[in-house]
Amino acid sequence: MTNLTELYERLKEERIRLNSELQRLKAEEKSADEQREGSPFGKREEGATETFELEKRLAIERRLNDTVAEVEHAIKKYEAGIYEICDICNQPIEPARLEALPQASLCLKCKANQAKDARRRTTR
Ligand SMILES: [Zn+2]
Repeated sequence: MTNLTELYERLKEERIRLNSELQRLKAEEKSADEQREGSPFGKREEGATETFELEKRLAIERRLNDTVAEVEHAIKKYEAGIYEICDICNQPIEPARLEALPQASLCLKCKANQAKDARRRTTR
């Protein structure tokens, strides 16, 4: 049997880790901005790399924010006593799935359906 309390603890640790990761990214962004302001020369050559770096950082930040939202959602579900319940079909989520991904909010079947839907939407 899955130890839900342990998964809950893992989620809370994950939330702390993700938030400090986000803080670190934001601090890096700030110091990069300050460096740019301090050096008015050589901007043209650095421009492309900077844009690339910025886009990469934004993508990482977006993914982190998404994961934080998933983790928060799972924590709320645990606190409401419905942690194991799939958001869509109200059936219990597979314990092995929760072990592998404690912030999972859908069972395997619904997750697969959702992925299929997303693919259909983007190909349309
Ligand atoms: Zn489901």
